[in-house]
Amino acid sequence: MQKGHIGVTTENIFPIIKKYLYSDHEIFLRELVSNAVDATQKLKTLSSVGEFKGEIGETPVRVILDEKKKTITISDRGVGMTAEEIDKYINQVAFSGANEFLEKYKKDANAIIGHFGLGFYSSFMVSKKVEIITKSFKEDSQAVKWSCDGSPEYTLEDAKKEDRGTDIVLYIDDENKQYATKAEIDNLLKKYCRFLPVEVVFGKETEWKDGKEVETGNDNVVNETKPLWTRTPSELKDEDYNKFYRDLYPMSEDPLFNIHLNVDYPFNLTGVLYFPKLKNNVEVQKNKIQLYCNQVYVTDSVEGIVPEFLTLLHGVLDSPDIPLNVSRSYLQSDGNVKKISSHITKKVADRLEEIYKKDRENFEAKWDDLKIFVEYGMLTEEKFFDRAKKFSLLKNTEGKCFTFDEYKDIIKGSQTDKNKQLIYLYTTDIQGQHSFIEAAKNKGYDVLVMDGQLDSHFINHLESKFENSSFVRVDGDVVDKLIQKEDEAKLDLTEPQKADLTTIFSSQVPNVDKANFIVTFEALSENDAPVMITQQEFMRRMKEM
Ligand code: ADP
Ligand code: MG
Repeated sequence: MQKGHIGVTTENIFPIIKKYLYSDHEIFLRELVSNAVDATQKLKTLSSVGEFKGEIGETPVRVILDEKKKTITISDRGVGMTAEEIDKYINQVAFSGANEFLEKYKKDANAIIGHFGLGFYSSFMVSKKVEIITKSFKEDSQAVKWSCDGSPEYTLEDAKKEDRGTDIVLYIDDENKQYATKAEIDNLLKKYCRFLPVEVVFGKETEWKDGKEVETGNDNVVNETKPLWTRTPSELKDEDYNKFYRDLYPMSEDPLFNIHLNVDYPFNLTGVLYFPKLKNNVEVQKNKIQLYCNQVYVTDSVEGIVPEFLTLLHGVLDSPDIPLNVSRSYLQSDGNVKKISSHITKKVADRLEEIYKKDRENFEAKWDDLKIFVEYGMLTEEKFFDRAKKFSLLKNTEGKCFTFDEYKDIIKGSQTDKNKQLIYLYTTDIQGQHSFIEAAKNKGYDVLVMDGQLDSHFINHLESKFENSSFVRVDGDVVDKLIQKEDEAKLDLTEPQKADLTTIFSSQVPNVDKANFIVTFEALSENDAPVMITQQEFMRRMKEM
């Protein structure tokens, strides 16, 4: 039997690990299951490059609970470890075997989860003793058992184990005994392991028979190894996306649109984002995006990783390139995180523009739900404003939708004040301001509806962005001072056409008076005729005398 001292500088690393390694004790299960997944993926990689020639066979990761003994065992049929490897990867705390493996097999490696080299030790946050019983895949390997009771002393000895792979046995301590229950393990597996790429089995499947829950004899697989976001978009239908949405957020209404992300350069990012049907209270709907690292759930708080307005989206992001073991404030300054964040913003704008261009009717139909999201983005992200100004819509009291450019064209001939400012009339309350709206309409003005949650901010923002324009509430006094120039707009004649018409009309005037009549094309009000032949003012006065 070998006895030794775990290679760390501080004698009392364990109390530190227990307290500070992760604020959440429950992540121990995620760490151990993902190590088991890594070991399994490594074996598959070695097999694909010919370094493992044996039979891979079935490779589920099994989580086994002994409620009486208060032990949890995590068992895999992956690469296993030799005594030397235990020395290297386990005894030297913070020496991450995963990093070394990745360096060596960069090209072929299936996604490896471990990065920090401390995951295994998180088991001591909840255990009074941990055992590793492992046998390497290498031919003629001797199985070994490592055992440590949470002091820096460990033991390592030969053991009996037929099959390759690793069993990690946790002896859960009294303070954490709640983890040694079926319900709690179910919970944790569902939260952290739901989409892991290797099957994870916990107990037996059950079904209801004669009012009782009975085991079916089949393994209870807790995860979906190929979740939607890892699949090829061209193979997926709207219904698949909607189904996945309902899996993530049961009882929710179908989302409006989805965006499938898939980038592998210059960073790795996959995921599916959804535009939810937002209800009035926006705050409660933030932070529904789940963040994964190689299909391991990490957090549902994406603040600092995506721009604020995108926290309204729902869905899944998966990236091994988001450094998750650092503080949020550090995240914001991280180069990769910045790139990822602006990539997502761009994708969201791309998708909205695509729908707007391809299917404007559909886009308009969903505008009421999209509006708050688009406005939020335009208010807070300059880059998004520049993209969205092409498809952001303004809606008038008749329910018609216009892009900014379209709307400007509509009002530019008819809604200016004496300083030639373009005046956007709007209402904040269609019912309450009804009579003002009607009055404005009777004068031929158009009135926008701006009664959304963000509209008052949005109006200010548009005023600062639109040149020589202001927004005036329809019950304000400016309405009366607007100058209409609609006659010119209505008639729209070219100079040669005007000249021709003048000739025709003048021919009808008695010859003697010809010089004293003028033909004008400027109607004075909406009800006036568009063309008038008038006697010059002094002639009229002469006659009246
Ligand atoms: P990381 O996963 O970040 O590398 P861990 O502390 O979780 O760090 O694990 C340390 C190392 O121990 C791993 O890199 C791996 O080499 C080895 N290891 C842990 N669990 C297993 C396992 N189930 N099978 C084989 N090797 C393992
Ligand atoms: Mg790990």
